[in-house]
Amino acid sequence: MNPLAQASNPKRPRRRPSGTRPFEFAESLRFASLAASLGAKVGEIRLYAGRDQHSANAFQIGLIPRLRYMLVSDYFADHLSEPELDVVVAHELGHARGNHL
Ligand SMILES: [Zn+2]
Repeated sequence: MNPLAQASNPKRPRRRPSGTRPFEFAESLRFASLAASLGAKVGEIRLYAGRDQHSANAFQIGLIPRLRYMLVSDYFADHLSEPELDVVVAHELGHARGNHL
């Protein structure tokens, strides 16, 4: 089955990057609104475990916009205010909109 058909098949759960988890619902809503306002397509924005390594990073993986993930380290998210986190996400959304892969 091709990846597009697989992703749209509701009987088959989407495989998310291992070691990642969703943001809180309110943050996810805020990011979805930000993505819509910027016209950027990202499948999902998730946290990855970076506390042990003190990893302060955000990046995207995936070539197909609706299957693309933006990953933000939990260490980075821990140390940013809400407006700072939004700026980081907006920066990455700019890359998504411009297809800077
Ligand atoms: Zn950048």
